[in-house]
Amino acid sequence: MNVDKNLLKEWDKTYVWHPFTQMAEYVQMEPIIIERGEGCWLVDTEGNKYLDAVGSIWCNVHGYNVKELNEALCQQAEKIAHSTLLGLSNVPATILAKKLVEITPEGLNHVFYTDDGSTAMESALKMAYQFWQLKGKKKKTKFVKLDEAYHGDTIGSVSIGGIDLFHSMFKELMFETYKIPSPYPYRFNGTKEECRDYVLQKLKELLEEKHEEIAAVVLEPLVQAAAGIIVHPEGFLKGVRELCNEYDVLLILDEVATGFGKTGKMFACQWENVTPDIMAISKGLTAGYMPLAATMATDRVYEAFWGGDYGSGKTFFHGHTFTGNQLGCAVALANIKLFEEKGYPESLAPKIEYLYKRLNEELSELKHVGDIRGKGFMVGIELVKDKKTKEGFSWKDNVGRRVSRRIVEKGVFTRPLGPVLVIMPPLAISEDEIDFMVKTYKEAIVEVLGN
Ligand SMILES: *Cc1c(COP(=O)(O)O)cnc(C)c1O
Repeated sequence: MNVDKNLLKEWDKTYVWHPFTQMAEYVQMEPIIIERGEGCWLVDTEGNKYLDAVGSIWCNVHGYNVKELNEALCQQAEKIAHSTLLGLSNVPATILAKKLVEITPEGLNHVFYTDDGSTAMESALKMAYQFWQLKGKKKKTKFVKLDEAYHGDTIGSVSIGGIDLFHSMFKELMFETYKIPSPYPYRFNGTKEECRDYVLQKLKELLEEKHEEIAAVVLEPLVQAAAGIIVHPEGFLKGVRELCNEYDVLLILDEVATGFGKTGKMFACQWENVTPDIMAISKGLTAGYMPLAATMATDRVYEAFWGGDYGSGKTFFHGHTFTGNQLGCAVALANIKLFEEKGYPESLAPKIEYLYKRLNEELSELKHVGDIRGKGFMVGIELVKDKKTKEGFSWKDNVGRRVSRRIVEKGVFTRPLGPVLVIMPPLAISEDEIDFMVKTYKEAIVEVLGN
């Protein structure tokens, strides 16, 4: 793979179609081509180093090029890289399934392997739908979603998404859903508790009227990441769980972004002692090494599919080629072992506290920083035009992108969500790196927008 670095840049611009990217804009800029990683840093073909403030879009956990994870991958590759889970099982997928049942909330006893966040959610939707068909409640076919929700990019996942910029183009292809507001305290006229109760009331009214046709409520627990790191008020998730119980509707939680320590607990729903009926996990599952996901289900869900012959409709006819992939499962096991050895996520508490202390010290006084919010290592910094009135910038101002570009030029990799700057680093980030990261965000905000 010894291709001249300038030629690589040319090939990148010519042949690679980048995700979530306007290519006409992309090709105007000098591409950054990553060659290797060291700790929490990415190194490009020019030898430039970037501290990764977003953990390769929220999946990296222990940093790059981690000895224990590399070894797990190599050792597995020398045995077998992949064999199918259709009619066969394999060693790491079996051990990992048991492990996942142990570390996830009590009651999620069954692991259906998928490939990535989108397929994990797609499977969750089909599972919930078929569950009610098998239970004889054939009218329960609809899903409730939150405004600004994001669950991936396949059509089912897009149908339960609520981000117009990404999703409205495909509306003819999407199935019908019910939408409730997102509990977004910064943009709510009232206290956090009022914000929570307002949305719970909306959900209650909807379920009261429509529960007979509703299969499940779908939710990113505690933090809606892609929406701009919206942090839900305390008690919201618990309230949703109670309403789902009251109206006999399943609760599907998407822990794809929040799982594996990102909020300061292993899974976000553990903050409120909630067990969903179905839960999707992916990003941090392999510490950001390999695409692997799982859709986990309770006994109640699993047992509805139990028995009968293939013609009886009780089989879950779903599964992907690389389901239960050995390389992914082996790395996931090594990842969970590292969590145990490092005492994650409990041992992260002082570092999380330090992060917010530094953010508040450096950024809270800046005149265009409207809100600094987060849970654990998921942080959003919302830039506003007018701090008093909370008036936002126009999308034409492109503030998130302009500031983020400056941050990257200064040696920290980040990617914004509209006007919200994002921080979601590997859990392994050090205090010195936190200092450098926060200082860089501050400098970039001041240089682009003034102080
Ligand atoms: C990233 C993400 C997904 C989609 O995962 P992919 O692996 O990109 O398909 C789904 N849900 C949430 C909450 C995510 O953050």
